[in-house]
Amino acid sequence: MSRRTKAVILGAGIGSRLRPITDTMPKVLVPVAGRPILDYWMEKLVRAGVREALINTHAHPEQVRGYIDDVHACGLMRMNESYEPVLLGSGGTLAANRGWADDADQVVIIYPDNLSTVDLAAMLRFHESHGDPFTMLLFRTPNPRGCGIAELDAEGRVVSFIEKPPEPKSDLANAGVYIVSADAYREMAGAGGRDIGFDLLPRFIGRMRGWDFGGYHRDIGSPADLAAVNEAAPTVFGPCHRSAAPEISRRTAVFLDRDGTLIHDVPYLTDPAKVRVLPGAAGAVRRMREAGSAVVLVTNQSAIGRGLLTEEGLTAIHRELAAQLAREGAALDAIYHCSAAPTTPDRTRIDHPDRKPAAGMILRAARDLGLDLARSWMVGDMVSDVLAGLNAGCRGSMFVRTGCGPVSVRRPMVAGVRVVDDLPAAADTVLAESRR
Ligand SMILES: [Mg+2]
Repeated sequence: MSRRTKAVILGAGIGSRLRPITDTMPKVLVPVAGRPILDYWMEKLVRAGVREALINTHAHPEQVRGYIDDVHACGLMRMNESYEPVLLGSGGTLAANRGWADDADQVVIIYPDNLSTVDLAAMLRFHESHGDPFTMLLFRTPNPRGCGIAELDAEGRVVSFIEKPPEPKSDLANAGVYIVSADAYREMAGAGGRDIGFDLLPRFIGRMRGWDFGGYHRDIGSPADLAAVNEAAPTVFGPCHRSAAPEISRRTAVFLDRDGTLIHDVPYLTDPAKVRVLPGAAGAVRRMREAGSAVVLVTNQSAIGRGLLTEEGLTAIHRELAAQLAREGAALDAIYHCSAAPTTPDRTRIDHPDRKPAAGMILRAARDLGLDLARSWMVGDMVSDVLAGLNAGCRGSMFVRTGCGPVSVRRPMVAGVRVVDDLPAAADTVLAESRR
């Protein structure tokens, strides 16, 4: 069982150096390459399996509340607001939310006013691989005298940490992202310090690891910084928000949910006569395949696990589906199904390695068909579909409004998620993105 991880997003900073932009919006919602900077961190958290975050607010809190509403409409994450009429300082925010770690094993603490290529899932793996209660993300800075600088021993343990040192001992700078054990969180929250960097980090010297992730990391503190980050964003992130170059020799794919995405949603469909391909869906499949993409169905079929349908019955349903697609000149490259019944009503929880939101079916298809997931998409009507795509490392996931998923979603809340009306619109998006 993986550890339960929650997040604290220190988002209340005013961003006074970014005025006049921050006269009308909170710093966390300042756009970078057309999206709020917070979106990039939300995507990293979702991809790392974090499902609960606390964000502190101060200036323009109503805009952050609107953002939180959108997050909740998507269903990908539960966000709690901690409003500060008077700014408490980062240490004060932890003190004001002292119980936040009580039902968690570890907490990711993030200053979100940076654009970064860090992979939080990889950082969590690093944190869980050593026995210390604290991991600090480090990046190589060209300006050590202006940053908090760490010195590491041979085991990667932080043996000194100095804010803005006149005589820097390294160029390894604090990136403002920490992973701490629940005990360490409680220690920080109870220590009475106002600022994490100045008051709390020194307590952990000798029992804190530094993780030099080697990627791009830059803050948006000033107009010049923001301009530089905006200019760099398309290059450092690329279309799929990864630092590794895509392997272009492999095929791309679009993974489709079945019910409510490709065919009309019939709860526990067991009768082939009730299969009805949604309007325009066959044409969408055909267009995506003509453009060179594999189209692969990945479907949870708990009806089998519940004893309502047999494997043979499912084969008959998919034979009817194939016949209807063929009448419009379309076909699927493969179908993967998971027959396990759920053990939880929570569609964001993984309870079987194949059942969405787990990535098992997508990963198997990628191996079987030689697919490049970093350039592939997942399309579905449920939060479990969207999460399966993100969990598999797809370029992104799309909600369609043709099923029983969250039709109230106004706009996607993380960079890797889109909301479109139906499968034809999803195909338009895939084809437009592949031309970029
Ligand atoms: Mg569905």
